[in-house]
Amino acid sequence: MLKLLAACTLMLFFGVSYAQGTGVPSTLPVAAVADPAAPVTTKLDPVAATKAFMNRLQGEAREKSDAYAEGGYWLLLWNLLYGLAVVWLLLSRGISSRIRDFAERRTRRKNLQTLLYVLIYIPLTALLEFPLMFYQGYYREHQYGLSNLSLMSWLGEAGIGLGVSMVLMGIAITGLYAILRRVPQTWWAWGTVAGAGFLMLVVMVAPVFIAPLFNTYKPVPDGPVRNDILSLARANGIPADNVYFFDASKQTKRVSANVSGMFGTTRISLNDNLLNRTSPPEIRAVMAHEMGHYVLNHVVKHMMAFSLVLLGGLLFIKFSWRWAEARFGKQIGVRGIADPAGLPLLMALFSVYMFLATPVLNTIVRTAETEADLFGLNASREPDGFAEAIFKLAEYRKLEPGAAEEFIFFNHPSGYSRIFAAMRWKAESIK
Ligand SMILES: [Zn+2]
Repeated sequence: MLKLLAACTLMLFFGVSYAQGTGVPSTLPVAAVADPAAPVTTKLDPVAATKAFMNRLQGEAREKSDAYAEGGYWLLLWNLLYGLAVVWLLLSRGISSRIRDFAERRTRRKNLQTLLYVLIYIPLTALLEFPLMFYQGYYREHQYGLSNLSLMSWLGEAGIGLGVSMVLMGIAITGLYAILRRVPQTWWAWGTVAGAGFLMLVVMVAPVFIAPLFNTYKPVPDGPVRNDILSLARANGIPADNVYFFDASKQTKRVSANVSGMFGTTRISLNDNLLNRTSPPEIRAVMAHEMGHYVLNHVVKHMMAFSLVLLGGLLFIKFSWRWAEARFGKQIGVRGIADPAGLPLLMALFSVYMFLATPVLNTIVRTAETEADLFGLNASREPDGFAEAIFKLAEYRKLEPGAAEEFIFFNHPSGYSRIFAAMRWKAESIK
C-alpha cells in the first residue's frame, strides 16, 4: 500500500509542469489549401505546425530531454529490483521476525504490535533505500539542471516526507492487519473499502495539512494576471477562493500548476515559476487546463479508478501469498498473512503488481489529461499559448515517443500529441 499511496497522492497533484522557455518566438507556418472553387483562403495545417515545433528542439537539447525521460523508464525497474533486494535482506537475515518479536515483548495488544513494527520498518527501509533515493531525487535532478534545492534543504524535505509517511503508513498498515486478523476470508474486499476511504481522507486533508509542510500557499498576487485567472475561474464556475499561488521556485526550476483536494478542499494551485517565466497567454492556457480537471471532477473519478486498481492489487496479494508463503514462509519465520513480520513480503508482492500495473495507472491519468487539454483549449481559446507551454516541457519530457512507449510510460499525452491537439483546435476554430 506504500507504493499505491505514494503513487495516488502524487497523481492527485496533477502536475502540468513546465521548464523555463527558450525565448524562441512562435511563428507557425500557414499552408495554402488548394480549392479552386472557393475564394482564396489560407488554412493552418496542424501537422506542419506541429512539425515546426518539433524542429525547434534538435541536437544536444533533444538528446538531453530524451535521455532524462528514458532514464526515468529504467528507474521504474531499478526501483522494483532495489526494493526487492531490501525485502530479501530484511527477511533472509531474520531482521523482520526480530522486529516482530521485539514489538510482541513490548505490548500484548495486536494493533500496537503492528504499529510498533511499522514505525521501525518505515525508517529502516528508508535508510536502506537512501542511496537510490539520493541518486533519483537529488543527484539526477541536479545533473539535468532541474532542481534548486541545496543538499541540506533536500535532506530536510526528505525528513519531513519520512515523518508524513510514518504517520500515514502507521494508520494504513495497522488498519490492514486488523482486517487481515478479523476477516481472513474476505480481507481483500474489506481492505479495498477501507483503503479507498483512507485514500479519500488523505486526498482531502493533503492541501490543508501536508502541502503547507513543503510550501507556502497564498492568494494569487494582485495584477492583470490575477484578474485574468479569476475571470477564467468565474466563467467556469470555480470560486475565486479556490485558486492559490505557491513558492515552488525554492525546490525546482519547473513551471507547474495542479489541482488537489476533494469535496470541500478542492483547489487549483499555480507555482511562482509559472507566473514569473511564462507569457499571459501561456498562463491562461495552463490554468484553463487545470480548471478542466476541476470542472470534470477528475479527482473523484481517479479515486474510483484507483480503488479498482487497489482491489486488483489485494487480489494479487491474496493469490500470490499462498505461493510465497509455501516457498519462503518457514525459512523467514513468518506465521501467516496476518503476521506483521511478513509485511516486507506483502510489500514485495504489491510492488511487483504496481510495476505491472504501470501502463494501466498511466492510461487512467493520461486519459484525464487529454480531456483537460481539450477543456483548456475551449475555455482559454489560447492554442498558441498552450503549445508554447507544452513545448517547454520538452526539457524533461520526451517530445516524440513511439506509440507503445507513450502507452506504457506516459501519464500525460506526449508533447507531440498535445501540440498537435492545440494546432488542430486552432485550425478548426480560428478561421
Ligand atoms: Zn493536467
